[in-house]
Amino acid sequence: MENARFTVLRCTKPKRISYLCKENKNILQMKRLFWIMVLMLSCIGSMAQKPLIGISTGYSASDNSASVRFTYVDAVVNAGGIPVLIPLTRDSLAAAEVINKVDALILSGGEDVHPFFYGEESASALGGVNYERDLSDMWLLKTAVKLNKPVLSICRGEQLTNVTFGGTLYQDIPSQFPNRPTVQHGQRSNGTLPIHHVNVVKDSHLYEIMQQEQLAVNSFHHQAVKDVAPGFKVVATAPDGVIEAIEGFPKYNILAVQWHPEYFAQQGDKQWIKLFEDLVQRAGGSKSNIKEPTAKPRIR
Ligand code: MN
Repeated sequence: MENARFTVLRCTKPKRISYLCKENKNILQMKRLFWIMVLMLSCIGSMAQKPLIGISTGYSASDNSASVRFTYVDAVVNAGGIPVLIPLTRDSLAAAEVINKVDALILSGGEDVHPFFYGEESASALGGVNYERDLSDMWLLKTAVKLNKPVLSICRGEQLTNVTFGGTLYQDIPSQFPNRPTVQHGQRSNGTLPIHHVNVVKDSHLYEIMQQEQLAVNSFHHQAVKDVAPGFKVVATAPDGVIEAIEGFPKYNILAVQWHPEYFAQQGDKQWIKLFEDLVQRAGGSKSNIKEPTAKPRIR
């Protein structure tokens, strides 16, 4: 008997201990799982609040590359968006699908817009043009409008926006602008330095964002908006009368500026980050489902 009892005791104790250990292990695993899930959900939650901001990129045929200055990427990140670079593609439906996936579009700067798009011959002072990129950017822009995605157009993006919706450009400000330009539009100093002022129209979305009637801006352009596209209005001009910003509200969810606010926003300039925060905000409720676009761009 004694032997038997001894055996029972010897057997039960280790069994109970191992059972408890298993139980603890399970609880620990469940706790770990719980916290992983909380972490994942909070990550998904915070990602969901950040809209995807598509940024059109430049295209270089000579070195076969697509790129954009990092100022745009940092400006979007600083404003609480997720940057997505959009390369030029000959597959128009793929490009449209990218626009469907992002929540907003930034049309970045670059070459002159080809004057054929607004029915003019090239002036001798016209700069380099990139016909393929014009087509691609116009397609991205038209698709964004069709899918009701908000747009922020910058520099060349502003000019291209105007041309896409029926406006025209001065191909070269120094040789074509009726009044002699009195400020430096082709800035020779660093882009983080404002070089001239613009006067902002008070009754405008731009004013709502910036809350200032005069803004100090940088300037890297020799082309400018001439005839404003129907549905758009001028919301900022330089002291010499050169058009510096247009917007299409309420018909088009587009703000287009001639200067480069991303230089300042990259530096963490709180005032200029507002312009990108505005795009992030406009992107907040713009999720929509794509219907296959009916028109195709004429990319050869
Ligand atoms: Mn300027």
